[in-house]
Amino acid sequence: MKCRQKYFNCRILLLLSVICLTGCAGKREAGSGKTYWILDGDLRTYGEQGVFYQENGYLRFMDAASGLDVTVCGKPECSHSREECPAYFERRVHGAFWEGDTLYLLTDYGADRFGELYLYEASVNGEDRKKIGELGEAQQLFFAVCTEKYIVFSYWNLYDENMKELPRDQIGVRVYDRETGECRDVLSREGWNARVYQLDLIEDEIYVSCFYYDLTPEEVLAHETDQEYMRQYLKHELLKADAGGQEVVSLLQGIADMEVQTVCEAGVFYTAGGRLYLLDAETGVSRDVNESMMGYPSFSEKGLLFGRYDSDTGETSFYRYVAEEEEFCLIANMQAYIPAAVFEDVCYIYDYHTDDGNGVLAFCRTADFFKGKTEGLIRFEK
Ligand SMILES: [Zn+2]
Repeated sequence: MKCRQKYFNCRILLLLSVICLTGCAGKREAGSGKTYWILDGDLRTYGEQGVFYQENGYLRFMDAASGLDVTVCGKPECSHSREECPAYFERRVHGAFWEGDTLYLLTDYGADRFGELYLYEASVNGEDRKKIGELGEAQQLFFAVCTEKYIVFSYWNLYDENMKELPRDQIGVRVYDRETGECRDVLSREGWNARVYQLDLIEDEIYVSCFYYDLTPEEVLAHETDQEYMRQYLKHELLKADAGGQEVVSLLQGIADMEVQTVCEAGVFYTAGGRLYLLDAETGVSRDVNESMMGYPSFSEKGLLFGRYDSDTGETSFYRYVAEEEEFCLIANMQAYIPAAVFEDVCYIYDYHTDDGNGVLAFCRTADFFKGKTEGLIRFEK
């Protein structure tokens, strides 16, 4: 139930201290920077080819071509013992992705202190690790988007250099320019219970939403049951930043129950007050487009994926939205599936049709899922 609980909790308990995994989303145009990999903050990186994750220190890959879940180790006759295996890291690998014959890793491997994040490259079989970039202080990653030009990620720092808890959480969004090696923050905030809960990159524009209480822990302790007081200090922001430049634009702020669902060229979908709105990022005008719905990370020209959960039936009604047609088309009502990421040809879904109720990651063709066909759903096998 781990994933499902997280997913549902983050919707219900957004303003409590729950890590939210809604991830990044949006429809992309083919062409420039077309390689997209997204990190979900749970040490998983999704891409068109498969999913990287770390387990007991070993980097693994769920291959969407074969359906196999393998250790990222190509060393002949490797016993996969910790010391010898190129897939083993004694530190966290927050994310991994590959391009051509090169594997890239976002990790604190080799760091002297907690939270120093680096970019490493390695050969595709895991060997020949080499540090190629410094990504600054990032103790926890929520989300990241990796393209040919940029690595954009949101971080969360909780401790000082002596591992003493900071009075206020530090959150932010950082851009690493892969060509120049430059790294800079486009957003940084401090507060109690601070979170970045949505991050996206569309045509080199970063969309980010975050919330935090502009309070010290002492103020929170003195007023925590006073909802009116707490609400006054809740900051809730949606911003747009230029990945290559300096411009940061505030798109929305101050809507207490606002939740950004997904972003596409047409604008930003967010929910508030039980409705779904589409904000035009250019004009700043929002319009009501539907009942409240959840948006899933979608990277397909075939459309954006939305879902509305009905707690009475336990079913989710899935919808496909195509910007040109401005229409939500019902795909099907389904039980116990939670999409994780939708790419052009491959769609990743947590399947809860299991005996123990634990979700397992599966995949199918995006075109099939958009027709409501789940017969072709394949669970990854070790
Ligand atoms: Zn090995």
